[in-house]
Amino acid sequence: MRRLVLAPHPDDAVWSCGGMLRQWCREGDLTVVTVFDGDGPDVHRPGSGPAVRRAEDAAALARWPLRVLGLGLPEATLRYDGAGRALYAGPLALRRAPHPADAELTTRLAELLRPLIAYQDELLLPLAVRTHADHLLVREAAELALAPGPGAVRPRVRYYREFPYAPPPPAGGYREHAEPADFTDWLRGSLVYESQVRGMFGDAPPFARALARRTGAPRRCVWTYWVQAVT
Ligand SMILES: [Zn+2]
Repeated sequence: MRRLVLAPHPDDAVWSCGGMLRQWCREGDLTVVTVFDGDGPDVHRPGSGPAVRRAEDAAALARWPLRVLGLGLPEATLRYDGAGRALYAGPLALRRAPHPADAELTTRLAELLRPLIAYQDELLLPLAVRTHADHLLVREAAELALAPGPGAVRPRVRYYREFPYAPPPPAGGYREHAEPADFTDWLRGSLVYESQVRGMFGDAPPFARALARRTGAPRRCVWTYWVQAVT
């Protein structure tokens, strides 16, 4: 079994699927590809800039025997139009669809992804329903790369629920599933992303409570995903 998790940002694979990574490593080859881990033009931005996030991602993912690949593209807040204006000026803009100027980036990302997913048996994609423009861009690029061509073999695709976002169930044509997951492993890996834990939750205990609420731990920890129903 060859499996690939596509993470829009450093932390998405571990925060959203961390309780499954140990099992997936046992079942075969696992690769985590982080798309938007590049510096962009703001290389001197302090705090939780790309370099910090890359280091946290490397340290967290080193907990499991998996392959790691970063594509080095700049995340939404580090992307600008030709006149130097931010494409996503403000948090609300990030919740919308990708900016029209990102159409070329979607095509370029699809080209980068095509050889990476060609020989996979399974692909894990963010659900990207009302979460983050980068998540939707990644999903769209992956689906573009999966488009049928001559001799194309399509891997199985599962859509994971992104944490801490709470994407609503997708409309029409999807089936929701849940699998038992390892909460301890999930939490330990997630807390390695210190800058994100601090920035979004203030401290580790509120993060742990939010992850427990999401997954049903400690009573019964589950990982939730969707598959498209065969038409
Ligand atoms: Zn993300």
